[in-house]
Amino acid sequence: MSEKADASKKNGNKECWEKCKSDKGGIREKPPLIGPFNKGQFHFSIWYFIAALVVIILLNMLFFPTLENVTTVEYSKFKELVKSGEIKRIEIRESYYTGLTLTKEEISSQTREEPIYIYRTAKVEDPNFVELLDSAGVEYYAVPQKSNPLLNLLLNWVVPIIFLIVIWRILFKRIGTLGPDVMSFGRNRAQIVAEGETGVRFSDVAGADEAKMELEEVVDFLKNPKRYTSIGGKIPKGVLLVGSPGTGKTLLAKAVAGEAGVPFFRMSGADFVEMFVGVGAARVRDLFRQAKEKAPCIIFIDELDAIGKSRANTIGSNDEREQTLNQLLVEMDGFDSRTGVIILAATNRPEILDPALLRPGRFDRQVLVDKPDLNGREAILRIHTKGVKLDESVDLKKVARATPGLVGADLANIVNEAALLAVRNGKDRVFQEDFDAAIEKVIAGLEKKNRLINPRERRIVAFHETGHALVAFFTPGADPVEKISIVPRGLGALGYTLQLPTEERFLMTRQELLGKIDVLLGGRAAEEIIFREVSTGAANDLVKATDIAKKMITEYGMSERFNNVYLPYRKSSLFMGEEQYAVAREYSEATQQYIDEETARIIKERYQIVLRTLTENRENLEKIAERLLEVETIQADEFKKMVERLSLPGKS
Ligand code: ADP
Ligand code: MG
Ligand code: ZN
Repeated sequence: MSEKADASKKNGNKECWEKCKSDKGGIREKPPLIGPFNKGQFHFSIWYFIAALVVIILLNMLFFPTLENVTTVEYSKFKELVKSGEIKRIEIRESYYTGLTLTKEEISSQTREEPIYIYRTAKVEDPNFVELLDSAGVEYYAVPQKSNPLLNLLLNWVVPIIFLIVIWRILFKRIGTLGPDVMSFGRNRAQIVAEGETGVRFSDVAGADEAKMELEEVVDFLKNPKRYTSIGGKIPKGVLLVGSPGTGKTLLAKAVAGEAGVPFFRMSGADFVEMFVGVGAARVRDLFRQAKEKAPCIIFIDELDAIGKSRANTIGSNDEREQTLNQLLVEMDGFDSRTGVIILAATNRPEILDPALLRPGRFDRQVLVDKPDLNGREAILRIHTKGVKLDESVDLKKVARATPGLVGADLANIVNEAALLAVRNGKDRVFQEDFDAAIEKVIAGLEKKNRLINPRERRIVAFHETGHALVAFFTPGADPVEKISIVPRGLGALGYTLQLPTEERFLMTRQELLGKIDVLLGGRAAEEIIFREVSTGAANDLVKATDIAKKMITEYGMSERFNNVYLPYRKSSLFMGEEQYAVAREYSEATQQYIDEETARIIKERYQIVLRTLTENRENLEKIAERLLEVETIQADEFKKMVERLSLPGKS
């Protein structure tokens, strides 16, 4: 979260530039539903409330002056006064009696000397009261409930409404964050940027070559949808951009729209999630409706994880998010990709997405946006220094070399910092020393957040990955190495060696399985040879290697003692509709022991073989690892050339 916030801060100027532009370009927004309470137009405060109350009281006093010298007495006292003849006239109201010490006549004839006293008492259910009045000869009359229309209106309507509004405001202030937008729910905040207005091209994105290549197809489709539809070709509906924060996912989505010259509807996942159940779903509906009108176009949902979180492993339920997600799924299923609407989404946490989102017909295509390697970083720096005056001393390659593990957003930030430093020091252009200082500053900030690997770890990773690659190279029948990389790739992977199978395989021979184990062990073996020490980095490899070895014995019948025998260990059973694994084995304890020992033996034997292979190729290992440390990724061609150059003449 904080990383994201940071990244957007770094690019504050750019974002602002965009906003200003789209303001002019006309954001089509519906007016807010309830206008007058928008902040700025009407500041509600408690003073309004108090003023209203005072006015009510004043009005009431003006129109209905209260009588003076009213004495409130007990009912028994009141009766006494009636009996004694003190009270001569009584007004009966619904809830009280008012007794006057003069009769009507005496009041109207202005000749009275004695003052008038008024007694009031609460009514008591007393069936003999009227009798008493008659016998005392008191004049009495009942007044029907006299209502005060103004007061009634105020009490029944105005006050409760004011009260509700006060509570409403307090609630929203508590919940905070939404601020002025509280009342504008239901309004679609999707920006509609007219044709080509994102102004971003693929040339503005550097480093993410593989992602760009995949997205080019999307652009092509958006440009000529007819060409695809006339053949009956299938067009992707949803493309999910996956990558660490700041790697340029948002930028890429904009570039797709810019290249294709189609409208671009951008919304962040967080925009859909409101506190009111149903609002997010309504927004999704609205977004798709607008998009269909403008087809061909792109819908871009940034930070998809905000709505797309898996429904399975959340504690409790969030109705609003679930409804929004469901609506999104419904909309995605409900439209035909031939309409020319393509949905792009971005996330840096694909692992928490609801699996339903990744099913065919939804975001079935995933594009990995990797962190940039050395060359990628240099290219990104070139883009961002285009408008910056650089001194000749500046060596962008050097800057790129000093910033392993950093992403595009960080690099943009470094360029900006360097320029600011130069200005602060009264220079008219940016020098290398400004860059050095900027790098230090930015990296220090990132180190605090634990986002960088330290140089020693980088070395270990480089040798580990080279180990995998070399073993793969020397193992007959192993899938060829496509790419070696020490650019961290999300989810804790510090590096990776990509092997691409040359053909699809359904069967594997015993030798090939052993080869697979060898390649998996190559990483740890390289660490041991070079550092005389092993690390935890191989844990995942070991899981896989052990699994293969065990399966060879128990499932594929490839062991000596149980040749061609199936030794089932896990019996799956269905319990209440869910698959449960009962840990049950259908063989003896002695067999179990054999399996364990045999597994360990296979792994040990293969590890010795791998150690030998790598020791024989130690020069290769070192040269390639050093190269990897320098450039961070090595592609298939270069790798092959390096190994061949190093090993062929040496071997003879
Ligand atoms: P994400 O969406 O992956 O978090 P952004 O697309 O918001 O990252 O990138 C933030 C900023 O970083 C961009 O606006 C751009 O200035 C810069 N940036 C990131 N990646 C690249 C790249 N590959 N090429 C050029 N600039 C980049
Ligand atoms: Mg983004
Ligand atoms: Zn490994």
